[in-house]
Amino acid sequence: MITASKDLRTGRSIWESGPTPRVPHRRLSRSLAADVLVIGAGITGAMIADGLSESGLSVVIADKRGPAKGSTTASTALVQSEIDTPLIHLARKIGKPNAVRAWRRSKLAVDAISARLLEIGVPNVIRRDSLYLAGDLLDKDALANEHDARKAAGLASRFLNSADLKSRFGLTRSAALLSYDSAVIDPRQATLLLLKSACARRAMTIYSPAEIAAIDVRERTATAANGHHIEFRHMVFATGYEMRDCVPRRGHQIISTYAMATAPQKRRLWPEQCTIWEASDPYLYLRTTPDGRIVCGGEDEEFSDEEKRDALLARKTKTLQRKLGRMIRGADATADFAWCGSFGSSATGLPRIGAVPKMPHCWVALGYGGNGTTYARIAADVICGALTGRPDVDADLYDF
Ligand SMILES: Cc1cc2nc3c(=O)[nH]c(=O)nc-3n(C[C@H](O)[C@H](O)[C@H](O)COP(=O)(O)OP(=O)(O)OC[C@H]3O[C@@H](n4cnc5c(N)ncnc54)[C@H](O)[C@@H]3O)c2cc1C
Repeated sequence: MITASKDLRTGRSIWESGPTPRVPHRRLSRSLAADVLVIGAGITGAMIADGLSESGLSVVIADKRGPAKGSTTASTALVQSEIDTPLIHLARKIGKPNAVRAWRRSKLAVDAISARLLEIGVPNVIRRDSLYLAGDLLDKDALANEHDARKAAGLASRFLNSADLKSRFGLTRSAALLSYDSAVIDPRQATLLLLKSACARRAMTIYSPAEIAAIDVRERTATAANGHHIEFRHMVFATGYEMRDCVPRRGHQIISTYAMATAPQKRRLWPEQCTIWEASDPYLYLRTTPDGRIVCGGEDEEFSDEEKRDALLARKTKTLQRKLGRMIRGADATADFAWCGSFGSSATGLPRIGAVPKMPHCWVALGYGGNGTTYARIAADVICGALTGRPDVDADLYDF
């Protein structure tokens, strides 16, 4: 049964009920210039700004809504080093050496995210093991192959048969892979604190609400909806799934996805509080919060418009509750919060990060899939590296 709490009716995510670190931002009331204009103040814009402001470049962020008010606030924030596309599948799509590089890079990105967030004092950044359950995408035998491929790539994982899984985690599936290097965060707090830390270096200013309505690449000028201009040496689209038409999007799809948070559980329902996700399509994935709630998500479908997406929230929440109750015996699946959002995805599961074709000095990151936080960090490394004369060794994996 769905509890009709206030947050369920408004569709607010659980993170919006938590503390809101104050981030200085102002209206765009005059034209100005900066070394780098970043459009978007979500987790991608925040990580890029964090990297760039360290290098001494002047940075302006413009956001039409405000800091951390896009998809970032909807994220369930499993920060997975495991890519949505299994290593054995990715190897078929892009070749084994590149697939291995992409998987290893994601692991490094999760380490880098945790280290940076802890460095600036973001609370509740918690490293977690990750349990990947056999499903219709990878059955028991395919999961064993995935395990072998990961081990051969130096990526630690443990294969659990159904008896191991039952005795250690109380879960009923034919098999699972346990890996060791994921994390969970509060995505809104992490983003706001990253932005706050970059603003404190005084090389960065955030303007919001400030919608960028037009870009003149030759003049290196962006024009806001209110008519003011921002001149730039470089520009970065960190606009999440709201991508402008000038950016090529071959193979790019926008997905709507649904999430909920239960009331705090009376007891810990599985040891070690690892993140859990299914090798299935559609899949269910879950994590816990520091106050003992289960946050779970899934039920993805192709995005058409926000109204239609939001209208499905009650039905999708019921499905999530049913699936959660079936997977975790004894869980109280009452939903205290339920929300939805959208993200871009690609055929390989890898994002596109790089210089925008035919738009000199413009950079973009798109098609993050369910690994948005991990890829935001890789986008920051690649783009900051390119703009500061330190090309990233893995940039070719993600470029156009
Ligand atoms: C329900 C849900 C669950 C998810 N769960 C996970 C998860 O567990 N783990 C994970 O890693 N990822 C997850 N994701 C994906 C993740 O949320 C996104 O990949 C990530 O937050 C994208 O961040 P972003 O900064 O690129 O985009 P956003 O947070 O959307 O920020 C983009 C910003 O750009 C601004 N903007 C857009 N156009 C303009 C313009 N023209 N002018 C000015 N500003 C503009 C918007 O206002 C917005 O604030 C989930 C997503 C959803 C919806």
